[in-house]
Amino acid sequence: MGDAARPGDLDVRWIHGSTSRRRPTDPPLQVHRYRDDTIIARQSKDVTFEAPFVFLLFGAERALLLDTGAVDDDTLRRAVDDLVAEWVAQHPHPQYELVVAHTHGHGDHVAGDPSFAGRPHTVTVGRSVQDVRAFFGFTAWPDQVVEYDLGGRRVELLAIPGHHPASLAVHDERTGLLFTGDSVYPGRLYVEDVHAFVESLDRLVDFAQAREVRHVLGCHIEMTRQPGRDYYLGCRHQADEPPLQMTLAQLRSVRDAAASVAARPGIHRFDAFVICNGTGPRTQLPLVARALAGRARDAVRRAR
Ligand SMILES: [Zn+2]
Repeated sequence: MGDAARPGDLDVRWIHGSTSRRRPTDPPLQVHRYRDDTIIARQSKDVTFEAPFVFLLFGAERALLLDTGAVDDDTLRRAVDDLVAEWVAQHPHPQYELVVAHTHGHGDHVAGDPSFAGRPHTVTVGRSVQDVRAFFGFTAWPDQVVEYDLGGRRVELLAIPGHHPASLAVHDERTGLLFTGDSVYPGRLYVEDVHAFVESLDRLVDFAQAREVRHVLGCHIEMTRQPGRDYYLGCRHQADEPPLQMTLAQLRSVRDAAASVAARPGIHRFDAFVICNGTGPRTQLPLVARALAGRARDAVRRAR
């Protein structure tokens, strides 16, 4: 203790898909030690185009796994088992727990849940609003900050519906990391309920400004390093990705951008992210058209 918001290591080159999926050069899962008590992992674009990030935080009593990714095999489970075993070897505890929770309930963040079924001393939080409220003890969703103790390591949770009804932001006091799921990340921010999304971002900015935030970490990277330019939906090789981490200033700009386009369904580009406001044809058709064109272009390139 007494090491509040001690920095970690984000000097990492994330796996971003192999040039040929027939001869993958990426491991299926990249495990990065941000600190000895904080793991950031990414699933490979070779196994899922979503290539989501998942996070594992160790406290004295329990570890918190945020998300189980987009793949329904046991690769993540085995990696988590190894990491927990290593932790317990260094910090002996007779009944060290694992809590499997989610930034939100979409399929690319919960697909590995079944692989944790039957694991000893393990709780998996359900994916509905009711499940999340009940487990963490929210009584005034979404206008409430709830604390959760990992044993000498406190995280605070804030409901941020809008992308998904059960979206959570999680702030880790020990590292100053703010996990924002699919609500804020360098990519396409899909807004299902724009009213809720704008309100959530207002609350999230207030929440973040009242705390030490070293990095804002979402769950995907879909932008290129070219301002306003994202990879097409489903792209399998992203060699020119920006870093995962965003700043508090960027979080504020997501909030401002969302408010500015709230009345206009469709795709709105900003330097570090894209807002896809609404789930109707005005957002879906251009995304699908671009995805088809991108895939065809890549197929031609590979055939050459
Ligand atoms: Zn996602």
